[in-house]
Amino acid sequence: MKIRTASCSCGQLSAKVSGDPIRVSICHCYACQRRTGSVFGAQARFPRDAVEVIGKGTDFVRVGDEGGRFKFTFCPTCGSTVFYVKEGGEEHVAIPVGAFAESGFPAPSFSVYEERMHSWVVVPKAIEHMP
Ligand SMILES: [Zn+2]
Ligand SMILES: [Zn+2]
Repeated sequence: MKIRTASCSCGQLSAKVSGDPIRVSICHCYACQRRTGSVFGAQARFPRDAVEVIGKGTDFVRVGDEGGRFKFTFCPTCGSTVFYVKEGGEEHVAIPVGAFAESGFPAPSFSVYEERMHSWVVVPKAIEHMP
């Protein structure tokens, strides 16, 4: 099985995952833009059992537009978010795709919150668009 490691900028906090993600998506919402510092977030979802966390993380809980609570775990030293879970959905762990630093990582199949998409962003044609 393919093993990948997602890491923060300084390397203190990482998440080792086995197998391919069950879902890869990009999200154009402002919360994802703020969290990542980029113009959209890209995240991969894995089963909890496939993820092993190494290092110390600090948690931040953000309440989403629809009331969902998301717990983001970031490195207290460098600030990178390495994984997050939705409360009530702890069987899955989401990991920012960029944390893998792997250009060949599986492409996203969902594009979410396109009403906030920057005008110059072009998403793959075959992607599924979600509100
Ligand atoms: Zn770090
Ligand atoms: Zn978002």
